[in-house]
Amino acid sequence: MRAGQEWLGRLGSLVTPAFFVSGGTMQESGPVYYDIHLHLAGCGCGGTGCWLNPKRKNSFAFSMIRRLNHISKTELDNMLEESLWGRIAGWLAEMPYYRVVALALDWARENDGELNKSLTDIYVPNDYVIRLAENNPQVLAGVSIHPYRKDALDELRRCAEHGAALVKWLPVSQNIDPSDPRSVEFCKLLAEYKLPLLCHTGSEGATRNINKEFNNPLVLKTALEQGGTVIAAHCGMRSLPIDKDYFDVWKGMLGDYPHLWGDTAAWFGFRARKAARELKVGGFTDRLIYGSDWPVPSSPWWLLGHLPVREIRKLAEIKNPFMRDVETKKAMGLPEEVFTRAAQILRPS
Ligand SMILES: [Zn+2]
Repeated sequence: MRAGQEWLGRLGSLVTPAFFVSGGTMQESGPVYYDIHLHLAGCGCGGTGCWLNPKRKNSFAFSMIRRLNHISKTELDNMLEESLWGRIAGWLAEMPYYRVVALALDWARENDGELNKSLTDIYVPNDYVIRLAENNPQVLAGVSIHPYRKDALDELRRCAEHGAALVKWLPVSQNIDPSDPRSVEFCKLLAEYKLPLLCHTGSEGATRNINKEFNNPLVLKTALEQGGTVIAAHCGMRSLPIDKDYFDVWKGMLGDYPHLWGDTAAWFGFRARKAARELKVGGFTDRLIYGSDWPVPSSPWWLLGHLPVREIRKLAEIKNPFMRDVETKKAMGLPEEVFTRAAQILRPS
């Protein structure tokens, strides 16, 4: 018996029943779960082309993420050498029913489209995620193209031809105004290719903020009017109390834009507790798509007071962070459709 299967056997009823058979054997015929929001980061070793701003590596945000994931500084250096992929591959092997959209991240850019390296915290090239997707059946390519780039439309065509599943923007840190005419032109082409836009909304705590105005889901209106699918990452929720919360704005837009969705990424800290409260009110899970936002740490302990301590303890014992995040969000009340829905929304390769 493989080590992963043995470990799954110990998990018992905590693991999604459709995939668990007594004796610890995995079924591979059950529904497929999609995590549309997984980050990579690396130092560029092994020809990945990834880049991590050395000034940011020991920032408070990055150190918090490292510590909460129980990763030592030396371990982190090793992980960055392989752009975090080694760990991810190990966890994926334990979950044959799980697919991830690995996200690229384009450079932060000036208003004229010139890249600004010192303002960039993490750069992950499109070719790297495309290559990962080509070589790993559980991975889909989430490319990132800054719409102010002179070659933005050509790069979009190129990535679409190479099987991109979605396009990721982090406007607050990449300096993208989604209502800028260049963004609107870009979204028109996205709609033609039926490529969803996964766009950050709500507060951003991991990378530096250039313009927080872009966190408001209302800035996505002109993009939505081009007819393509838009997934508002985090549903406009804040993660820090000092930031504005746009969850009600996002929820209020759902009626006008049937092709607007939200993801469940980084339900961490205040955002996890807000999500738990909103799930009790309900009325939006039919517009949610599952995303983990790993390596943003997922912990059931944020739900103290919302889930019984006994259940929290069991969830916290799950070592595989993807599995822990899935089971925690299920315990919060997310229906199975949230985990499988991306199959209908991502661009099929
Ligand atoms: Zn993210």
